[in-house]
Amino acid sequence: MDESIFIKILKKEIPGEIVYEDNDCFAIKDINPQAPIHMLVIPKKPIERLSEASPQDSVLLGHLLTVVRKVAKNRGLDSFRVAINDGVDACQSVYQLHIHVMGGRGFAWPPG
Ligand code: AMP
Repeated sequence: MDESIFIKILKKEIPGEIVYEDNDCFAIKDINPQAPIHMLVIPKKPIERLSEASPQDSVLLGHLLTVVRKVAKNRGLDSFRVAINDGVDACQSVYQLHIHVMGGRGFAWPPG
């Protein structure tokens, strides 16, 4: 797997706004926000998409959700939308697993 644009941001090879980092993951502001607050929580491990994660990634996947909660709380969100796009039909555009965390406006359901 080629190094993703997100890992390039983590390594400061390209610009990006990192809002959280620990040993296993990091969070950045989305460059094209779909809500007043839009962040991406990303594992450092190169996993292309959720459907490529293995049972050995279970602890990591749980940790990512804990970090989702943390970054949402840090931004003062008490209600927020979380999304993972997996593959072409879901409009995944960057093939490094990432969790969208969006808030600061109301959301419709079902999503488009
Ligand atoms: P997805 O379509 O689920 O793969 O989401 C990829 C997300 O990455 C999109 O919301 C993009 O706006 C975002 N994105 C792409 N390039 C960058 C970048 N350089 N910095 C921050 N976010 C980015």
